Amino acid sequence: MTHYFDHAATTPMRQVAMEAWVEHAGALNPGGQYGSGRKANSVLAQARETIASLLGAEPIEVVFTGSGTEANNLAVRGLFGASENNRVVSTLIEHPAVLETVKALAEQGAQVDYLPVTSEGFVESFDALETPAAVATCMWANNETGAIQPVEEIVQRADAHSTPVHIDAVQVAGHQPIDFGALGAATLAISPHKFGGPRGTGILLARRTPTPAPVLFGGGQERGLRSGTVDVAAAAATAAALAEAVSDMEAENVRIRKLRDELVAGVVRTVPDAVLTTREPALPGHAHFIFSGAHGDSLIMLLDALGIEASTGSACHSGVNRMSHVLEAMGVDAETGIGALRVTIGRTTTQEDVAYFLEHIGEVVERARLAGSF
Ligand code: PLP
Repeated sequence: MTHYFDHAATTPMRQVAMEAWVEHAGALNPGGQYGSGRKANSVLAQARETIASLLGAEPIEVVFTGSGTEANNLAVRGLFGASENNRVVSTLIEHPAVLETVKALAEQGAQVDYLPVTSEGFVESFDALETPAAVATCMWANNETGAIQPVEEIVQRADAHSTPVHIDAVQVAGHQPIDFGALGAATLAISPHKFGGPRGTGILLARRTPTPAPVLFGGGQERGLRSGTVDVAAAAATAAALAEAVSDMEAENVRIRKLRDELVAGVVRTVPDAVLTTREPALPGHAHFIFSGAHGDSLIMLLDALGIEASTGSACHSGVNRMSHVLEAMGVDAETGIGALRVTIGRTTTQEDVAYFLEHIGEVVERARLAGSF
């Protein structure tokens, strides 16, 4: 039996999403000008409407993409491409989907300024927003620490200088309320597999103006922002998953926070020198620790051998974990930061999972420390 603690990476698909997926798996081209095309298009339109209403957006603002990564790329590159301005404002704690996109723009000549973050992982100064930019981009909540960023303030500050803002809301959608209209961002990225929808699909919310310049070229589907035949079954499954996630959100967050707090208290009791990196305000399911003197890879392997599935939290390239760029931005030194372990609790986590984790974490940290931080 496995005990899954990597819900921030991906979470199991909800039954309602699987059912919607199977129901519409046979849908044909929603762009087809005949009966089966119109039928597929009406399923797609319904999914678009449901998603829009759950996120405070208009249906036309919902753009189906192939992943959260793609939604982030289309927004950041697209807003940059739509502007005469050569400046980008971002942060150094972004997920690689944004971080690497911004770096690529810098390599092409963009001037990039980063908003600084505190040692607790929160964006702290907004000075870089006082000068107009083509786009300012910031994540709503950090995927490693769970830290919730001051996105409302970022949008307000940027708006004062007519800088469009992109928000990477991949960790937030389906977990915290989102009102796209009220937020006032130009674009916002979502990844359904983080809230029980299908993997390999994404949503970009994009206001009518400023419209991002297209990055992909083709048949002009999805307002020309994401050409390619839309996956109707995935859209229907996403709508079903989001509807359930939003309706369960309040009760689920109370339950998840309780389990997380119990897990954190247990870890600190068992390993008194464990450092909890996650600070409030944070997503309720996140518990990010540093166990100095241990290597994150050892912790993960030892936990895995016991049927406990967790991660270091940083996107690992070819299976090799390095010190996370997020911890680096927070000023954690490389030797300490390599002992990171991210434990994320979600919809399927039970009290028994937490008890099992707490039963074993002490011996795991002890053994990992014997192996060293190499
Ligand atoms: N942005 C954040 C904050 C994430 O956590 C992730 C996934 O881990 C992504 C973007 C990328 O999403 P996807 O896996 O759908 O490409």
